Amino acid sequence: YKINMNELMLLEELGKGQYGVVQKVHHVPTGVTMAMKEIRLELDQTKLNQILMELDVLHKSQSPCIVEFYGAFFIESCVYYCMEYMDAGSLDKLYGDGVPEPVLAKITLAMVRGLKFLKDELAIIHRDVKPTNVLVDTKGSVKLCDFGVSGQLEQSLAKTNIGCQSYMAPERITTATASTYTVQSDIWSLGISLVELALGHYPYGGGKFDSVFAQLSAIVNGAPPELPSDRYSQDCRDFVAKCLNKAPTERPTYAQLLDTPWLQKYDKEEVDMAAWVTGALEKKNARAAAQHEAEQATTDQIH
Ligand code: ATP
Ligand code: MG
Repeated sequence: YKINMNELMLLEELGKGQYGVVQKVHHVPTGVTMAMKEIRLELDQTKLNQILMELDVLHKSQSPCIVEFYGAFFIESCVYYCMEYMDAGSLDKLYGDGVPEPVLAKITLAMVRGLKFLKDELAIIHRDVKPTNVLVDTKGSVKLCDFGVSGQLEQSLAKTNIGCQSYMAPERITTATASTYTVQSDIWSLGISLVELALGHYPYGGGKFDSVFAQLSAIVNGAPPELPSDRYSQDCRDFVAKCLNKAPTERPTYAQLLDTPWLQKYDKEEVDMAAWVTGALEKKNARAAAQHEAEQATTDQIH
C-alpha cells in the first residue's frame, strides 16, 4: 500500500529539525494519525527513487522499541516520510531537571533493545542517537526514530548539511569519514544521551565552551562526562561509564549492555512509565505557559 499526499489531512506542526518540519497528519483512508517528516533535499529522480526503495526494508519487520514506518513519497525534490505518531513527543522536551533512575533505566532498556533490533534484524547502524530521536507516548512506550535506513538519504543529508556534531564519538571527530562509523559510535551517543537525560542538559553545553572547536576538543581530549553520584546508583554510573569509554573497541556490545547488573535489575522491576510521561508533559506545558505569559508581559510593556 502506498500513501500519498492527497489522502492526508494536515494537522498541527509537531516540531522542526535541521532538514524540515514534522507535522501531525490524519490518514483519511485508514483513520490512522501519523507524523509526517518533510526532508528538503535537492535531488534528482534516480536518487529519490533509490531512497524510497531503501526505505522499503522498514515494511519487513517491526519492534516495540522502534517507531513504525507507514510509507514515504516525494513531491518535487522533497521526501515525505510517514511514521507512527507518538503523542508525548521527544525526550528532549520532557526530561526537565533530569529523570529519576528507574525511568532512566526503562528508557535505556528500550534504547538498547531498539538499537540491537536494528543491528540484528535490519543490519542498520542508527547514526543519530540523541534525545530528540527518542519518542514516548502517554501509554509509557519508548521508541527510537530517525535511524540511518537509507544510505542514499544519509549521503544526501551529509552533503547538504554538516549540522550539529555534538553527539559524535571521539573517533568520529578525529576520523571524519562516514566509512569509519561503527556500531560502537552509537554506544557512545547512547552514553551522552543518558548523561543529558540525567543532568537535564547536554553535558558539553551550557556556555562552558566558547566555540564549536573547544567543544569538540573537549570530547576528543577531555575525560568523558559522568553521572552525579548523589542521585544515581553505582551500577547505573558504571553502565554509563562503559558506554563512554574513549576507546571504541572497549565499549560493550548490546548483548553485554543488556546483561549488566543495572539493566538486569530494572528489567525485573515495575516502573510506572505512563505516570512519569503524563507528569513530564504537564510540567512541559506549564513551562510553555509561563514563557508565553512572560513574553506577553514584555509585549505589554512595549505598548
Ligand atoms: P535534527 O534535525 O537535528 O535531527 P530533531 O530530531 O529535533 O533534530 P526532527 O527529526 O525533524 O528534528 O524532528 C522535529 C521534532 O518533531 C522532534 O524534536 C520531535 O519533538 C517531533 N517529532 C518527530 N517525530 C515525531 C513523531 N513520530 N511523533 C511525534 N513527534 C515527533
Ligand atoms: Mg529527529
